Amino acid sequence: MMTGLGLHVVCPSCGAINRIPKDRPAGQAKCGTCHQKLFSGKPVTANAVTFERHITRNDIPVIVDFWAPWCGPCLAMAPAYERAAAELEPNYRLLKVNTEEEQSLAARYGCRGERHARYRILGEGAEQRSAARRQRELTTLKAVVPEMC
Ligand SMILES: [Zn+2]
Repeated sequence: MMTGLGLHVVCPSCGAINRIPKDRPAGQAKCGTCHQKLFSGKPVTANAVTFERHITRNDIPVIVDFWAPWCGPCLAMAPAYERAAAELEPNYRLLKVNTEEEQSLAARYGCRGERHARYRILGEGAEQRSAARRQRELTTLKAVVPEMC
């Protein structure tokens, strides 16, 4: 939940939930538990466990790239997705889910066969937003990352 006390951000290194005060630059923040930077400008590879934590405990919206290693368009888009992380952090967390390795997640989000790859904006941070704001976020996302395959 977003509170007056700051934003909750899940550490991509150790999973600890950090609270970033509103008057601090979130992009510089380090994890209070493992002391790694909370934002490195790169997408974070998630498995079933870390994925769940990111989408339920972050106050920022979480963008997920469900990709497959055998998919040419997915691989071609990867550099653009990396650049998107640098551009969209710390307002968003960008995750990558390998749908071959995380088949339960792939099934849950309807990523099967030809329909494996897509970007999604998920998480508490996203769900608290108004429809208009979510639409603006989608527009931002589409401007930064290429069309999904
Ligand atoms: Zn940490």
